[in-house]
Amino acid sequence: MTATAPLRDVSADPALFQTLLELIRRTSTQLPDDVVRAVTSARKDEAAGSNAEVALNVIGCNIGLARESSLPLCQDTGTILFYVHTPVAYDQIEFEEVATEAVRRATKLGYLRQNSVDSVTGKNTGDNTGPGSPVFHFHQWREPHVEVKLMLKGGGCENMNAQYSLPHPDFGGRDLKGVENAILDCILQAQGQGCGPGILGVCIGGDRGSGYGYAKEQLLRTMEDTNSEPALADLEQRIVEKANQSGIGPMGFGGKTTLLACKIGTQNRLPASFFVSVAYMCWAYRRRGVVVGAEGEAREWLY
Ligand code: SF4
Repeated sequence: MTATAPLRDVSADPALFQTLLELIRRTSTQLPDDVVRAVTSARKDEAAGSNAEVALNVIGCNIGLARESSLPLCQDTGTILFYVHTPVAYDQIEFEEVATEAVRRATKLGYLRQNSVDSVTGKNTGDNTGPGSPVFHFHQWREPHVEVKLMLKGGGCENMNAQYSLPHPDFGGRDLKGVENAILDCILQAQGQGCGPGILGVCIGGDRGSGYGYAKEQLLRTMEDTNSEPALADLEQRIVEKANQSGIGPMGFGGKTTLLACKIGTQNRLPASFFVSVAYMCWAYRRRGVVVGAEGEAREWLY
């Protein structure tokens, strides 16, 4: 069981605390520019006066209002996911404590709605912390600085995630055609639920646990990022095109915008298994990042 980090006196790390607090505020209230560009461009593709155009206009207004008023983009705070790269010998325990305290403060300030409950009793912890919240993924690297990426992943879209084991009688064998059919099935099953238009992170391979984790990590790529593997780049593009020909549309209202992007990564697998894991992200695609300087200050904002 993962225990919550204890209450911490943040005076020991005031700069890091402020940096992480600001990272949370930005992530919760300001969609990254690449996502805003994708939503804006999709609005232009929909027929004037259609339900799809209305839905995307409402989403656009929501994005603008949240940014102007520093209020959460959505009432669903989502799972709070920190992806942290640290130099060798960096104190990750201390980082976890400071970040957890920043989550508590952000909740108090209204940047995050109180949205974390005990899984058995349903009791809200009131500060978005508790066993397993927030989530930390640490990676060491040989760079001298710390890089933090934060993603807030909504519950509605998390419900639309899917995992497939190939071969499958309906989707095909252990090849990219089978993968394509599995991903398209995920979109079909969602039918715009999980607050589409969606963005997919996909992992081919891994095991059931690592596959889902890596699928989610694909969502750290920008919307415009092209896969370095040509076959996967083609597949990503084909998935978006086919999804947008499905007629499902934003929120399932019909229209041309079912999917904004699809990002696919691979992990080695065991010869005995072939999983396709799909992490479905909603339009409230909240991800931000920061490069942290030696004193804990924000050196560069990412995305
Ligand atoms: S799925 Fe996304 S947009 Fe829908 S309620 Fe949750 S966070 Fe909000």
